[in-house]
Amino acid sequence: MYDVIIIGGGPAAAGAAVYAARKKLKVLLITGEFGGQSIVSADVQNWIGTKSLSGLELAKNLETHIRNYQEEVEIKAPELVTKISKKDGGFLVETDRGGVYETRTVIVTSGARRRKLGIPGEKEFDGKGVAYCSTCDAPLFSGKDVAVVGGGNAGLEAAVDLLPYANKIYLLEYTDTLKGDPVTQEKIKSSGKAEVIYHAETVRVEGEKFVTGLVYKDRVSGEEKTLSVGGVFVEIGSVPNSEFIKDLVELNKAGEIVIDHKTSATSVPGIWAAGDVTDEMYKQNNISVGDGVKAALSCYQYLLNK
Ligand SMILES: Cc1cc2nc3c(=O)[nH]c(=O)nc-3n(C[C@H](O)[C@H](O)[C@H](O)COP(=O)(O)OP(=O)(O)OC[C@H]3O[C@@H](n4cnc5c(N)ncnc54)[C@H](O)[C@@H]3O)c2cc1C
Repeated sequence: MYDVIIIGGGPAAAGAAVYAARKKLKVLLITGEFGGQSIVSADVQNWIGTKSLSGLELAKNLETHIRNYQEEVEIKAPELVTKISKKDGGFLVETDRGGVYETRTVIVTSGARRRKLGIPGEKEFDGKGVAYCSTCDAPLFSGKDVAVVGGGNAGLEAAVDLLPYANKIYLLEYTDTLKGDPVTQEKIKSSGKAEVIYHAETVRVEGEKFVTGLVYKDRVSGEEKTLSVGGVFVEIGSVPNSEFIKDLVELNKAGEIVIDHKTSATSVPGIWAAGDVTDEMYKQNNISVGDGVKAALSCYQYLLNK
């Protein structure tokens, strides 16, 4: 029987694990991998206390800090939680490796993953011209015409990442306005390399060995048009990793775990959640760490009161 099972290995998990360990709780941390989503970033410049470091370095630092508490924190990785159920005043946590673990409390920090377009050709050409990380893959599209799908901050930043490499960038937005920061919009528009296409609904990715085109429908005229591009960057947001707990705690429409922002408590006593898997408005590394800390401190108080 563990005091707390922490699900995840990103910044929120690190915050929760370090604080839970320092309260001398008996912790089991189960994660697919360590580091979290920004592991792919070439340069993280807003990790407070460090001017600049790579996502990989940040991930390594978090893992090392967690592993420093080997007496208190047992680790199962790579292992994915598939189900959580209530049992005898505590919880039963099941995993894809056949693990069944009993715990008094749970902290969920399973983060989020990239949203997919779900159109024909996307899966087939994943890694063959279809990309989800501009920071990682922009240099591979040197001299090519590329499409970026999504006019929010993620899409705009992908376009900025592509500016030094791509020959031409088509930025496809579903509505009639870009949602991202005006400063970034200006940078793209003034580059002379980018063309914004509004009212665009993506239909299919075309190609042979690699991507050769993206077909979209103009939502106003209903006409289908083809862009001859060698790459398609998909930047349409993320999906919370909350499937394994959807029948137990309250989720919002987006599938995010609804928490009390003062304590990180979920709708079920004994379960807390932190970071990108929650309805926290700002999805950032520093915020995730802080929310993880909050969850661990609330969990400790709960166990003391029991
Ligand atoms: C490309 C990119 C660049 C970014 N750059 C920055 C930046 O520069 N600065 C910044 O502040 N933020 C940045 N962010 C946002 C930041 O990465 C996230 O806010 C942060 O990673 C969220 O942390 P988290 O711990 O909540 O979740 P995540 O980082 O998503 O971590 C989730 C963890 O849970 C594990 N997991 C998932 N499902 C399960 C399961 N079923 N069982 C067990 N484990 C599971 C995963 O393996 C992972 O370890 C970036 C995001 C992206 C995508």
